[in-house]
Amino acid sequence: MPSYKAPLEDVGFLLNDVFHFDRYNNLAGFADASADVREAILGEAAKLSENVLQPLNRTGDLEGCTRHADGSVTTPKGFKDAYKQVTEGGWLGLSAPVEYGGQGLPVTLSQTVSEFQCSANMAFSMYGGLTMGATAALVVHGKPEQKSIFLPKMVSGEWTGTMNLTEPHCGTDLGLLRTKAVKQDDGSYKISGTKIFISSGEHDLADNIIHLVLARIEGAPAGIKGVSLFVVPKVLVNADGSLGDRNGVVCGSLEHKMGIHGNSTCVMNYDNATGWLIGEENKGMQGMFVMMNEARLGVAVQGL
Ligand SMILES: Cc1cc2nc3c(=O)[nH]c(=O)nc-3n(C[C@H](O)[C@H](O)[C@H](O)COP(=O)(O)OP(=O)(O)OC[C@H]3O[C@@H](n4cnc5c(N)ncnc54)[C@H](O)[C@@H]3O)c2cc1C
Repeated sequence: MPSYKAPLEDVGFLLNDVFHFDRYNNLAGFADASADVREAILGEAAKLSENVLQPLNRTGDLEGCTRHADGSVTTPKGFKDAYKQVTEGGWLGLSAPVEYGGQGLPVTLSQTVSEFQCSANMAFSMYGGLTMGATAALVVHGKPEQKSIFLPKMVSGEWTGTMNLTEPHCGTDLGLLRTKAVKQDDGSYKISGTKIFISSGEHDLADNIIHLVLARIEGAPAGIKGVSLFVVPKVLVNADGSLGDRNGVVCGSLEHKMGIHGNSTCVMNYDNATGWLIGEENKGMQGMFVMMNEARLGVAVQGL
């Protein structure tokens, strides 16, 4: 039976004796992460990864995710309860801005926690990881009303996030993308197209999933200079913040992979789904790169 022991001593040595963490107390969040606070946080993170996440790693991979006829997706047994523990512990908001309910602590700390979680159960950790990436893009490029509607629920983990770039005919060369956005009189857009390989695209861990989607506005230039970024919630949000109607986005199928079966990697079909522009028209890659940079860091941490 495999087990996992978080490398607390090594991490302590690196943070305290190699990087001299306390030297950076002049930077945002560092003064709040004193040695005893770091030790307490990392100690609890270690327990969560060792006792809750790792035992679900093998079982989650064997069982995998299940897509149902209505497009809904069930995660492996135990994932829902583990996700509840992650959100109740505030783990997703460790480095998120305090104004959206986060703890504002240094990313050095949240990436260390992420390293524990990825080592214990990478498939599970991706649900929160993608959410943190989508959060970062909205913090930098979101409009004030988008921030107030989406960020507090994403920072708490009540809602999760995704990154929708890849299409059946393009992955690396995103200038070829065909997903279409049509502007509506009320300022929103209708989004139609197919995205593939969307990590955490559909699941049963959260009440809503906030998709960040690259699409081309009707009449926009060809190539990468005609690509815009949209926020497209799975469930539309009413003016008072409550959940409204289902949006026109559904999981068409689950991708077949060699591993990471506990993470739902989805084909997502957008059919006149309502979305809102993030940032400026045709400048979508700027916003998406904030998320992609987070994702790249996440992939690097997964590789440790
Ligand atoms: C487990 C998993 C999770 C994923 N999660 C997500 C996700 O959450 N969201 C998402 O949007 N995508 C996701 N992806 C998709 C991933 O981003 C793509 O696989 C990646 O962008 C590469 O695209 P591709 O597979 O279509 O390969 P291709 O684009 O076909 O590339 C194959 C090779 O061709 C080269 N190439 C391609 N086009 C050109 C060109 N014009 N000129 C020269 N060389 C070229 C590339 O450099 C590469 O070496 C995921 C993939 C996996 C496996």
